[in-house]
Amino acid sequence: MLNFWFAMSRLIAFFLLLVPLSALAAPVEIRGARLWIAPDQTQLVIDADAAIEHKIFPVSAPDRLIIDIPEGRVTGKLPLAEPEDRLVKGVRSGVLANGQLRIVIDLKQGVRAKSFVLEPNERYGHRLVVDMAPKVGGLPAAGSSPATAKPAANGPRDLIVAIDAGHGGEDPGAIGVNGTPEKDITLAIARKLANLINRETGMRAHLVRDGDYYLGLYKRIELGRQYDADLFVSIHADANQQDQDASGSSVFVLSKDGATSTQAKWLADKENNADRIGGVNAVDKAPELSKLLWEMSKSGTLEFSNLAAQAVLANLSQVGVVHHGKVQKAGFAVLKAPDIPSMLVETAFITNPEEEKRLNSPDYQAKLAGALMAGIKEYFANHPPPGTRWASKGGGRQHVIGKGDTLGRIAKQYAVSVSSLRSLNRLEDGSLRVGQVLIIPEG
Ligand SMILES: [Zn+2]
Repeated sequence: MLNFWFAMSRLIAFFLLLVPLSALAAPVEIRGARLWIAPDQTQLVIDADAAIEHKIFPVSAPDRLIIDIPEGRVTGKLPLAEPEDRLVKGVRSGVLANGQLRIVIDLKQGVRAKSFVLEPNERYGHRLVVDMAPKVGGLPAAGSSPATAKPAANGPRDLIVAIDAGHGGEDPGAIGVNGTPEKDITLAIARKLANLINRETGMRAHLVRDGDYYLGLYKRIELGRQYDADLFVSIHADANQQDQDASGSSVFVLSKDGATSTQAKWLADKENNADRIGGVNAVDKAPELSKLLWEMSKSGTLEFSNLAAQAVLANLSQVGVVHHGKVQKAGFAVLKAPDIPSMLVETAFITNPEEEKRLNSPDYQAKLAGALMAGIKEYFANHPPPGTRWASKGGGRQHVIGKGDTLGRIAKQYAVSVSSLRSLNRLEDGSLRVGQVLIIPEG
């Protein structure tokens, strides 16, 4: 009897514990969702007030993706699909007879889907991410851009520059005082730079990101390597929440041994954090640093990165203020391509209201792109990779400005007019700088 009552009391205690718990377990609140369209996938991100327990499965005829959430209710808006989305037709929700919440993604074709939950961070709360890629055929790889005229087989090849617009999609990057997201500015400048490069003889640009979607940092490097890039330029805008007066551009390369300053380290940590905000599953496997540095030293990647960064910084200083007069170094993940000279450019401070305004101006964006272009040309003119048109001796007519050079003397040397030199090289005020590279017009 005693045993019976003991058992009963245990049972009652158990139920007492259970009942209030289940009564308290409020359904997960779906507070909103977003769709991001990348060239090779569409991503649905769902915001919730708690970790979302879910089951996901495809249904065909018509193609749909079903997400079942045992305890959930939708309090926010579900996104409308974009007409240009090749995968998603729409997103809707309903409650099943058993009380389960069902979210249905109506599809335009069968997909391979992957779902995962992300922990809250400084920008977002709990998120459920669904990555969808086409089941058959497949879309072009992210960032691929239409190939421009390729050089004849066996002839000297074009120089290739990978331009990486920082952030994108779920990750807006830094936000200006007036609400400008860094991701929009970086893309605008990247596109302008790509246009300049594609207009240049013997050069071709690839935009690593060409739309409003996020790409993991190591995916960006991978794309740069797929393009066989000779140079990787990651474009960003700086932020300083404590000091709205902070201004100017900086250029960074990967550091072999620690950052040049605590500020540089802080910035690298912040930029490296992008994957957590951008909706990347687990952090991509980073290449082992010692192995990476060995590969880099073998190919002189860091030295070339430094030379390219110096040329770009020198030209940026002619457009506006530079925040650091010297190339800075820190452990930026996106600069870890073992075989591609790489740099990260913080174009200006988006947290400085004046600079935020300028960064939004197409004219200033063009100026920045022009300075980046001038630096890139200067670097390639001085260090043309073998096998490229720029390396073929006498083929590319360039002149590196030395001490005492004048436009008149250079014009005479190549038998061209001063005005053609001036217009081709956009030398409105005619000022020259030692180390600057002039393109010599056809005689
Ligand atoms: Zn950034």
